Amino acid sequence: MITKQNFSFYLIAILLFSFLILPFSSAFAANPVSPASGEVLKTLTPELSWSADKDAVKYDIWILKKSKKMFGLYMFLGRSIRDAAETKTKVKTGTLEDNSDYLWTVRTITKSSAIGNFGKTFKFSTAVNPIHQTPQQPTSPDTSADLNTVSGLLAAIKAKFGITMENGTAEWVLSSLRVAYNTLSKLPAKFYSCTKNIQRISTTSLGAGVGGYVNSGDPSRLYMTNLGVNYDLAGIIVHEMTHCFQFNGNYSTAMSWANQFWTARNSYNGQWQPVSAPPTDYGRTNPLEDMAESVKLYVTSASTLKYKDSARYDFVKNYVMNGMEF
Ligand SMILES: [Zn+2]
Repeated sequence: MITKQNFSFYLIAILLFSFLILPFSSAFAANPVSPASGEVLKTLTPELSWSADKDAVKYDIWILKKSKKMFGLYMFLGRSIRDAAETKTKVKTGTLEDNSDYLWTVRTITKSSAIGNFGKTFKFSTAVNPIHQTPQQPTSPDTSADLNTVSGLLAAIKAKFGITMENGTAEWVLSSLRVAYNTLSKLPAKFYSCTKNIQRISTTSLGAGVGGYVNSGDPSRLYMTNLGVNYDLAGIIVHEMTHCFQFNGNYSTAMSWANQFWTARNSYNGQWQPVSAPPTDYGRTNPLEDMAESVKLYVTSASTLKYKDSARYDFVKNYVMNGMEF
């Protein structure tokens, strides 16, 4: 039976890996082909092409734009319906803006499904006239850093946050590094200093739906998969960094979280039960995932958490974010 007293043993036993499982799109759908995901474009009217699906009746191309105000959120921008015979379309003038990040995906409509299937999501950034710092960034001492190149961003992240962005079975690209840099720039040193390495991997044997994970045996290093990078890079980095925070000197904070929001109420199986509902379904897994999801929302969607659960919001503000609010 698991009690609060042996909570830490319970956590170590079941949380060798703490990871985030994401919806996994069907393999039977048309996928974006070009521009390659992560590409930085020198045009505002790129041609988007995708793989053919023999069952397609129509293709429905969706473009989402990353909001500069609501950090990390991709907002629906527009769509284009194409015939089954077409596998490319040129983005119309006036659709894209310079120095912005976009995500796109193809919905394949078939005879048997009018709802269709979404394929993979690809991202691209526009940089016709590159800027040296995104306008919403607070001024930082390293204005000399070149934030328009991969090597410049790798150096800036290392210099400013002490974090090494590692290439593993996949490589960091410019658009992802920008998201990582901007995300880290928001966070207090108390939080980001618990993470030393962020490794880019293509997939993991932990499962096809895993977007990122931290191995508690090496709790300063987090891993980001292709799925995680394409799905919600900023959110998953913050989620996984919360595990680095929990495992690197802040275990008592994690215990306080568990004591405040969870209780070993279920005497049948000894499972911890939330006292109040965690803000996401994945947060119901256990107290550490609840905390990681709450910190993620605090950083990427503060008003959502504040409105949904002011107690969790206040805890994150006071004990994780050093009073910083976004
Ligand atoms: Zn997790």
